[in-house]
Amino acid sequence: MEAVRVECPVGTAPRLPYQLWVTYADGHKEYRQVRWENAALATEEAEATLPAGTDYTVQGFITGDLTTAQGLPVEAAVHVTAAPYAVPAAAPVAEPLPLNCVHLTGDNRLRHNRDLDIDHLLTLDVRQQLYNYRDTYGLPTDGYPVSDGWDSPTTKLKGHGSGHYMSALALAYASCPDADKRQQLKANARVMVDELRRCQERTFVYDRTLGRYREARDLAPEAELLQLGGTWADFDRYKQDYAHYGYGYLGAIPAQHCALVEAYRPYNNDEWVWAPYYCVHKQLAGLIDIATYIDDRAIARKALLVAKDMGLWVWNRLHYRTFVQMGGTQDERRARPGNRYEMWNTYIAGEVGGMAESLARLSAMVTDKQERARLLEAATYFDSPAFFDPLKRNIDAIRNRHANQHIPMVTGALRTFRAGGDGSYYQLARNFWTMVQGRYRYAMGGVGDDEKFREPYTQMHAMCAAKEPTMNETCCAYNLAKLTRDLNGYNPNDARYMDFYERVLYNQIVGSLRPTDYAVLYQYAVGKDASKPWGNETPQSTCCGGTGSENPVKYQEATYFVGGDTLWVALYLPTTARWETMKTTILQTCTWPAERSVIQFPDGSRRPFCIKLRVPYWATRGFDIRVNGQSLFASAKPHPGSYVTLPMRRWTADDSIEVVMPFTLHVDYGPDPVDGAWLGAFMQGPLVMAADSTGHFLPDYAADRRITHYFPLPKSSNYENQTVHP
Ligand SMILES: [Zn+2]
Repeated sequence: MEAVRVECPVGTAPRLPYQLWVTYADGHKEYRQVRWENAALATEEAEATLPAGTDYTVQGFITGDLTTAQGLPVEAAVHVTAAPYAVPAAAPVAEPLPLNCVHLTGDNRLRHNRDLDIDHLLTLDVRQQLYNYRDTYGLPTDGYPVSDGWDSPTTKLKGHGSGHYMSALALAYASCPDADKRQQLKANARVMVDELRRCQERTFVYDRTLGRYREARDLAPEAELLQLGGTWADFDRYKQDYAHYGYGYLGAIPAQHCALVEAYRPYNNDEWVWAPYYCVHKQLAGLIDIATYIDDRAIARKALLVAKDMGLWVWNRLHYRTFVQMGGTQDERRARPGNRYEMWNTYIAGEVGGMAESLARLSAMVTDKQERARLLEAATYFDSPAFFDPLKRNIDAIRNRHANQHIPMVTGALRTFRAGGDGSYYQLARNFWTMVQGRYRYAMGGVGDDEKFREPYTQMHAMCAAKEPTMNETCCAYNLAKLTRDLNGYNPNDARYMDFYERVLYNQIVGSLRPTDYAVLYQYAVGKDASKPWGNETPQSTCCGGTGSENPVKYQEATYFVGGDTLWVALYLPTTARWETMKTTILQTCTWPAERSVIQFPDGSRRPFCIKLRVPYWATRGFDIRVNGQSLFASAKPHPGSYVTLPMRRWTADDSIEVVMPFTLHVDYGPDPVDGAWLGAFMQGPLVMAADSTGHFLPDYAADRRITHYFPLPKSSNYENQTVHP
């Protein structure tokens, strides 16, 4: 193994690699996962107090090795430095090509799932998505079917599903090749935006006493706020009172629910709230996606207007009604309503999804200077110091937290950095991502046990203890993919990001849609005898029904990144793409999944550019790149987990780049031996394998029997009579 030496800025715990490149006695080389022994919170906190100039070591182990009971010992030499980590420029080095410029081709599971999702979306009644809004703004609901699932009349997460529905419409519109279906998607987007604006306009109430419109800050002043109830009877009363929501409020639940979070009311669907800002985020994201992808100016502008007015409602409410106080006991911190330190550190009720991400995106889309500034300021109002401050110091503050509550906050932090926030937002996002890789992820790429991060390095014990498929929530995979895409924009030459994106996309995200008839997964059960608990058939059904409706219409979104005169081929997916800056079309021909891919430019290119091709971490045998038939690597092969650069040139229609990457069988070992034995997942190239028998979970959790790829194990293994499949 290579020696591990890291420079660690004073005040932080060291950034240690989660995988190491190892060479075996027979000459074979590959990456192996490492478990470091400094994961105890007290140890990390002590490391972060060491003065500059200190040298120390951290012990670790390569997992899945029998040298000792804990694995093969390794050691990291850490040097504490006075200099902080470098901060990149706010503008990413590379951006994915826009979603509507990249299209899936070929006959494969990706296209099949995309089309199944689009057809399913078109079966949904757009009026059902609007039922709650009309009900919340005093408009008649005759002819509007009652909303379902977590948007139904008996839940307080209303609005989350209609938000996802809008995102799914917009992403489907960007990805759909069928003109008729595109028209239907656009028509539904128009209905959503028109009706939501009608509801929102009901909050434009001029108050003669105030001499201005009623605003968010006028709703429930402190004394009144403390008297607000949260029962269903209260809910029904609030929705009669839409004239007091404040200018611009848009929600499928009354605005009082956002205010109740300021009084630290807990997650309790009957007595208090669920997660009001989580729903606000989904709606903002849906409107922003419509404004981004629907190429009808009237629809796009109105969607942006609705989103902006709601974004400014959020700014107004939080600006005038909330503050941050970090010190003291919890009782002292909660002595007054509106302490954001406490609000966002509350289990579920304080779940805000990607509020910061959407507000930062929105701020970049509006033109008025003051509105831009306020929207960006509003994004920072969702900072959670209890979560962010340790992460900035690379201290693992994520253990035992709700996974999907916190991953989007990190994506939001990175967007805040991009929109002008300070460098610590970037550092915390990077630290978080690396922590997840080393300490929490499953082979599939997902995380979570009963929706939570548990103690670090306990994945295998969690799997063995699971009696039901309540692990590995698919929303987490959706959000980790989004965070990875955004981090890759700042680090496009670091293949670890897209190696992970490939892992979570190919395994969990693609596998979470039932290909026979539309259904998606909430928990993508992993572990011994795990099978897939299908369900969640609509965007409103559950959180994962919501993210699940978006996934198949954006599988291709991170295939290509571009920046300056460089094209990064980050994923090997059968696609055609348009890079408008270079006036070039990229044609990538391959199967999915691919062991060989051919990249061509049928129109040539107007200007010269260079190409970077990802060498996946698993491509340890037989990898090659052939440009116009000539191998680039007759002898020394490129390092797996890197990018190969094809120098700048003007590409012609005759050029052909062939990437050969035979899948290698390897084992992704978990970090924690169980009863003295190492456990892991067989992987064939990027694909996690599953054994061909299930039966532990309930019979109605039918496994996916429509398998596309089988790989026999080598005869020399102990499993020679079995077949594994993805
Ligand atoms: Zn979910």
